[in-house]
Amino acid sequence: MISVPDALSRILSAITRVVPPELIPVANSLGRVLATDVRAPFNVPPSDNSAVDGYAVSNQDIPTEGLHALRVIGDLPAGTVFDQVVQRGEAIRIMTGAPLPKGVDTVLPQEVVRTSGDKVLIPPIKVGSNVRCQGEDVQQGAVVLQEGLPIRPQEMGLLTSLGIAQLLVRQKPRVAILSTGNEVAEPGKVRSPGQIYDANRFTLSGLVQATACDTVDFGIVPDSRDRLKECLLEAAQAADVVITSGGVSVGAYDLVKDVLTEIGGIDFWQVAMQPGRPMAHGQIGQARFFGLPGNPVASMLTFFLFVRPALWKLAGRKELAPQRFTAVAIEPLKKKTGRQEFKRGILSFQDREWRVQTTGPQGSGILTSMVLANCFIVLEEDRGDVSAGEIVWVEPFQF
Ligand code: AMP
Ligand code: MG
Repeated sequence: MISVPDALSRILSAITRVVPPELIPVANSLGRVLATDVRAPFNVPPSDNSAVDGYAVSNQDIPTEGLHALRVIGDLPAGTVFDQVVQRGEAIRIMTGAPLPKGVDTVLPQEVVRTSGDKVLIPPIKVGSNVRCQGEDVQQGAVVLQEGLPIRPQEMGLLTSLGIAQLLVRQKPRVAILSTGNEVAEPGKVRSPGQIYDANRFTLSGLVQATACDTVDFGIVPDSRDRLKECLLEAAQAADVVITSGGVSVGAYDLVKDVLTEIGGIDFWQVAMQPGRPMAHGQIGQARFFGLPGNPVASMLTFFLFVRPALWKLAGRKELAPQRFTAVAIEPLKKKTGRQEFKRGILSFQDREWRVQTTGPQGSGILTSMVLANCFIVLEEDRGDVSAGEIVWVEPFQF
């Protein structure tokens, strides 16, 4: 038996390289990992500009009470620059985003002024109001995004606001996926009696794609030593990481271990967790290998716990831990000490607190428990049964 944290640290320390970088358009960079720090090429905003539609004035013309009349000397739509100096006694009409001309430092929203002919009547206002200052968002030369960060929509916009159209990111790791077992049938084809349709190759493919990696499909491999060997060797040529599901328990047909021992190196683990106890980890040539359990919930869970952080590390990500929160368990939960348990949970906000309950039956073959769930309930190794009302950890699914 090996604990979940021990298994993870062994897996991560076996990943000693990062995939090479490539230059791609920012528009295609969602989920990709930055391969360099990004520095701001200029200040944002590049100059002081107006935060509202209104009238720009000098602080020396702002009345302390009543209204003060100023002559409007021009109109300044966004995108235009007024290159003369605004004098005392003058104001300029200005639109949101337009740079402030010399001689003014405060903008009055148009809703608070009155106009009459070429005059504007302004009330008292705090000096500097409604002005966005040069560099208040980003200072020129500052590191705005750090190497190892995954790109979200907000990072995409920040990059393009800095005039950056292309970006150095890590290539997508390639992940070969195959299912094992004579009982597993290809969806869309006729299945013989006793066969089940393949679920794992598709949940795993979805998980790999959601981890910003490319999948290479190696189909279903029957429980045959030669076919498995051939297929694994080919997969290791085609991908950075090879994932199988099934065939790692200690049944008569559990060949993954034997074949891997022959063609690569393998650790075969009983991880102190439920579901998902048996798992294999090793290498075939240059590729990392993960032999996940066959039960659909167990294979998803072991992917979340062990494969995803490994893929993130391979892709150059710095932050590998999932986000974990607390919630109140609203039902009692059975728990054996000495192993981590992961229940499928439904997390909701009720009566001003986060509450969680299970999805019902928790068998590791019940894939609908994942469909109903929006989180894992994570129960620590040393914990026993949980009573209703106790605080538990939850890890929300990100998708
Ligand atoms: P195994 O580890 O090969 O003994 O598989 C454990 C359980 O998972 C068995 O009930 C298998 O039928 C099931 N299983 C294995 N592979 C798949 C798959 N690709 N899709 C759905 N269920 C599977
Ligand atoms: Mg099997």
